[in-house]
Amino acid sequence: MQLSEHFTLAELTASNTARKLGLDNTPGADALQQLHRTAQMLERVRAHLGGRAIIVTSGYRSRQVNEAVGGVTSSDHAQGMAADVVVPAYGTPFEVAKALASQVNALGIGQIIYESVGGAQWVHLSTRIPAQPVNRVITVHGKTTLVGIQPV
Ligand SMILES: [Zn+2]
Repeated sequence: MQLSEHFTLAELTASNTARKLGLDNTPGADALQQLHRTAQMLERVRAHLGGRAIIVTSGYRSRQVNEAVGGVTSSDHAQGMAADVVVPAYGTPFEVAKALASQVNALGIGQIIYESVGGAQWVHLSTRIPAQPVNRVITVHGKTTLVGIQPV
């Protein structure tokens, strides 16, 4: 199923963990509706990055999948509101996060997190605006959280 011009339901629900553990990762109606909104946000991000292909490394996670990957219960991934992405044709995850951070309102990004964990880096994008404005643009490095997009 095509969610938007460049994003399919398959790529926004693909999960190695689900496949390995035989877990169901089919979104319900509410999550599916949110995934459409998430795909629209990703389209705006894609256009802002000059039409470079966005690779979604993790999108929707059912409750079981979210638990299996150690995600927090309140994760936007479990609501279909978030996608972890890399855009190697544009630049490093840090460069991608930097290019998006000042444009969150224009692009309809509720929250952007530059994540650097265990030697891997990616950009978390959510359509949900956090309750605390300070959490809207942040960097997570291991167990440390920093305000803004920071080189770590
Ligand atoms: Zn994420």
